[in-house]
Amino acid sequence: MRTIDAVVVGTGPAGATAARLLAEQGARVTLFEAHRLPRPKPCGGGLTPKARGLVPPAALATVERRVERVELRARRVPPIQLHRPEAAVAMVERARFALALTEAAATAGAELRDAEPVLEVVEDPLGAWVATGRERVRTDVVVIADGEPSRLARALGLGGQARQLSLALEMDLPFAPALPTDTAILSFDVPGGYAWYFPKGDHANVGIGSYRERDGIRLHRQLERFARSLGLDPDDGRVRGHWIPQGLRRGPLASTRVVLAGDTAATADPLFGEGISYAILSGAVAAQTVKLWADAEIPDLRGHDERLRRALGPALGRLHWVTRAADVSITAALLAVRFSGAIREAAVDAIAGRRPPYGLDHDCSLACACRLRRAPAVRSGTRSTLRRGGAFDLLPTGCTGTANCRGTAGCAGSMSCAA
Ligand SMILES: Cc1cc2nc3c(=O)[nH]c(=O)nc-3n(C[C@H](O)[C@H](O)[C@H](O)COP(=O)(O)OP(=O)(O)OC[C@H]3O[C@@H](n4cnc5c(N)ncnc54)[C@H](O)[C@@H]3O)c2cc1C
Repeated sequence: MRTIDAVVVGTGPAGATAARLLAEQGARVTLFEAHRLPRPKPCGGGLTPKARGLVPPAALATVERRVERVELRARRVPPIQLHRPEAAVAMVERARFALALTEAAATAGAELRDAEPVLEVVEDPLGAWVATGRERVRTDVVVIADGEPSRLARALGLGGQARQLSLALEMDLPFAPALPTDTAILSFDVPGGYAWYFPKGDHANVGIGSYRERDGIRLHRQLERFARSLGLDPDDGRVRGHWIPQGLRRGPLASTRVVLAGDTAATADPLFGEGISYAILSGAVAAQTVKLWADAEIPDLRGHDERLRRALGPALGRLHWVTRAADVSITAALLAVRFSGAIREAAVDAIAGRRPPYGLDHDCSLACACRLRRAPAVRSGTRSTLRRGGAFDLLPTGCTGTANCRGTAGCAGSMSCAA
């Protein structure tokens, strides 16, 4: 790639991933973060397998627990137990995980400037100026990944309304005495959303989210009731909350020199409010669009809008309609999960990202961007170990990638590989 200057705003999963991939591709990257790191962020920290191929090993090393068992609960339906190792959710502590992603970007060559908020981005035909409280920086391109709400994107006329906006609250509490530590609980007695119990390393994260609730106090009370129903005392934790913009924004997601990623583009899913994997994926799409521009394959960055919608839109659109259908009758929806093998498989697909539309890297183009390599020396039969730079295993031994992987040169199989 022609050497270019890139500024990335925000060290969440989207910004840190974009910064790392751009630096790996040879760009001179400056990564601005408003807060001093590590930065606590309200988040349940449940990471599905979808973006695993784009998570560097140091960040994977922060995983505190892999949860393969999920119990679905609702008032009028007996509890449904699911045990699916291929859809295991990795539980991370958000601040540590995002710090590891950011450190990986710095190791790849990005210059990290934390506690330095970006105040303004001004575009011109030849690039952009980025102003912080300390200086103005000239750059060729800007990736805005400053989360929700993005004042910077709005000032540029980018983004706009998210298709759906949920309010979510969470707190850390001790493990529930009567629950196994290997099982997550999702309770759907919440209009327009659900409450969760996620067991981590030495505590649990308990939270609630709803796209139909705008009143934080009412949602807080529901969260307290849910915690008590698990035998927990909500006064033992501190509640934190934030909005989750979901289903992509309706306005433009890029201009000639600026691309949006993560919550700034509303990439979280409308059903579960899952945002980490999608933010990582969108950061990779942003880095890929910038590379295409730097390689003179596209005239400017506006095509990022279509590329991001093509990459995530089908999955997010499908989950939007599932959300609306479940809203009509959550009882019917859960009974369908209970009695229909096909619907259970579709749910596993949605979580694990096994195949389209949820297998988001169907053609393996993004995992290739993170320079995974198939290591020929360790191939045997249809099985292979995937290595990055040959130095360490990124995915478990025995991983075969997915059947859909085209095996592009340097490709290691797809992110949705579920060895
Ligand atoms: C309560 C709650 C629970 C959730 N639980 C889950 C879950 O279990 N699993 C899941 O997948 N998703 C979950 N999500 C969603 C997930 O947290 C987000 O979708 C995800 O963090 C989006 O990542 P991002 O990189 O786009 O933005 P963020 O993680 O918000 O990062 C944006 C970064 O930009 C920085 N920033 C902001 N303004 C500026 C500026 N002007 N200059 C420089 N830096 C700036 C911020 O400080 C921040 O570090 C949850 C969300 C909430 C609110």
